Amino acid sequence: MKFASIASGSSGNSIFLGTEHTSVLIDAGISGRRIKEGLAGIDRSLSDIDALFITHEHIDHVRGLGILMRRYGIPVYATGGTIARIRAMECLGKLPEELLRRIPEGEDVIVGDMKVHPFPVSHDAAEPCAYRIESGGRSAAVATDMGIYDDNVIQNLTGLDALLLESNHDLHMLQAGRYPYYLKRRIMGEKGHLSNDDAGRLLCSVLHDDLRYVFLGHLSQENNYEELAFETVTQEVTLGDNPYKASDFDISIAHRDRPGKPVEF
Ligand SMILES: [Zn+2]
Ligand SMILES: [Zn+2]
Repeated sequence: MKFASIASGSSGNSIFLGTEHTSVLIDAGISGRRIKEGLAGIDRSLSDIDALFITHEHIDHVRGLGILMRRYGIPVYATGGTIARIRAMECLGKLPEELLRRIPEGEDVIVGDMKVHPFPVSHDAAEPCAYRIESGGRSAAVATDMGIYDDNVIQNLTGLDALLLESNHDLHMLQAGRYPYYLKRRIMGEKGHLSNDDAGRLLCSVLHDDLRYVFLGHLSQENNYEELAFETVTQEVTLGDNPYKASDFDISIAHRDRPGKPVEF
């Protein structure tokens, strides 16, 4: 399986996953042009994309969705709650109804040789989810935009080859920062975003010998920076109550404004 972050952060998200025969995107929260450029960097094009999966309707996940549907005819899959909200978003333009596909609750979607499994996350959106993708005995997951996590999230992130995990903010930066109080409360709340510390703890509970790649993603521009997210999470892994050191895994940052390194496993 091939995995590449095109953009990840509170200003826009789009992640590529593919096999030799199948290509999908998780979220389209940046312009169609940037997605196209990001794909060109890994020798794929928008006409290769078989399906787009949306995690939830926030603009940093859907900004480029209209153009991908209208110009490239890419079918869009999401939960029923997310589809309903997307339909009502005038800023996305007219969306071809036949390309909007609701994922029935509890069901997986098969696209080519990939199985895409949505699972619910706690976030302030209609029916938000994260995705676990499996193909040929390999697996990867994209898990961002969640205020808290439960056993079901942990279970869905178990046994992966690659994981993109939210590491949104540093708690001290957020608390001391210039955001208004209500917004701080929202971000820190149960339906907000995972802090660097949360990401470290969650990662520790899904570590295993064969986990190869970890990307820390959805970093806040205002309340985090790459070195801090990396330091906090890797310290948690190395000092945590587990048999591993952070250097046992390939942990890196999924950048906000440019593609991350593509990996294959
Ligand atoms: Zn987001
Ligand atoms: Zn969100």
